[in-house]
Amino acid sequence: MNEVQEQTKTLFQVSDNGYYGQFGGAFIPEMLHPNIEELRENYLAITRSEEFQQEFQQLLKDFVGRPTPLYFAERLSQEYGANIYLKREDLCHTGAHKVNNTIGQILLAKRLNKKYIIAETGAGQHGVATATVCALMGMECKVFMGALDTERQKPNVERMRILGAEVVPAHSGSKTLKDATNEAMRHWINNPIDSHYIIGSVVGPHPYPDMVTRFQSVISEETKWQLKEKTGSEDPDYVVACVGGGSNAAGAYYHYLDRPNVELIAVEAGGLGVASGRSAATTALGKAGILHGSRSLVMQTEDGQVVEPHSISAGLDYPGIGPLHAHLFDSGRAKFYSVTDDEAMQAGIQLSRLEGIIPAIETAHAISVLAQMDLKSSDVVIINLSGRGDKDLETYIKWGKY
Ligand SMILES: *Cc1c(COP(=O)(O)O)cnc(C)c1O
Repeated sequence: MNEVQEQTKTLFQVSDNGYYGQFGGAFIPEMLHPNIEELRENYLAITRSEEFQQEFQQLLKDFVGRPTPLYFAERLSQEYGANIYLKREDLCHTGAHKVNNTIGQILLAKRLNKKYIIAETGAGQHGVATATVCALMGMECKVFMGALDTERQKPNVERMRILGAEVVPAHSGSKTLKDATNEAMRHWINNPIDSHYIIGSVVGPHPYPDMVTRFQSVISEETKWQLKEKTGSEDPDYVVACVGGGSNAAGAYYHYLDRPNVELIAVEAGGLGVASGRSAATTALGKAGILHGSRSLVMQTEDGQVVEPHSISAGLDYPGIGPLHAHLFDSGRAKFYSVTDDEAMQAGIQLSRLEGIIPAIETAHAISVLAQMDLKSSDVVIINLSGRGDKDLETYIKWGKY
């Protein structure tokens, strides 16, 4: 990094050794050290090169369908008495923001001469986004998925297989996302030379949180010029996003991190209620600890065992958050709310009825927070519409109240 870039580094950008305040770092087994070091040494130079940027931007445009629209939601705005704009990541190819990151990482893996791609997935959305870019680039792909999740999410398992990926069920522990992540890491340790591990959110050891944030930052880069076109100003009063690991939120916030006039609102999954014992509201319930290679806030017992989280939405059902978000919480830069399963489902139906958009249930959490905010009629609110609800149809049907 040159001097000018060094000077413009700010409070919310990652430090050279991979920290956001007291969170971050790379807590990894010795065997993974060469892989992580190779990534850390190369990711900035490669992703900043003109040649990389040209291919990345071209694919975002022609394959993903970017820029995604910034849509003024008139009826939703009337309902809440503010000016609400939806950033339409649901219109990305494969139905959510996740593909922004998988495109970036596969282009990086190619330039590091990797032959095999590994990924973990919970509901299967990141697995599908990874299998998609592996097909695009003709690379071999193994996706680790909790055995329980492979049964709960059959359509996504078949999507990955149609795309040519091998889905490997993880039979350890609770047979869900954190077990799939453990097994993906274990596989990487045993096959370090030719493999790249595509992590699906802003979690994991440095440089993953920063790398994924940068790939997703295209969201706020577009939002700035799109909002200026519509309102004359780049800056909204609020940017709202749901937080599982935190990648869609990190992308939606990125270019606003250093503009204190823009309030950042993060929405976590409250599950059956923060005090119910069945929740995934990490900032409300977590303590500092190490999970999947970085120091962050983690839901854990007194003696540091990871607590099994619960959310109706698989994408938010994670016992941690990325280190950037832990720092945004700790420093007060972002305000964190939680929304229960029921509140989120209601908001999903509300958006469907008011705007003709059935959101992913993850995204419905972000919509629901509008009811908790104290909005003025002059306020401009951006909500990152992280994904579409097709994958959640069965959950909507089971919930039934529409
Ligand atoms: C995976 C997913 C999320 C949660 O992941 P983040 O890394 O927190 O963005 C949110 N919304 C949708 C639609 C998803 O697929």
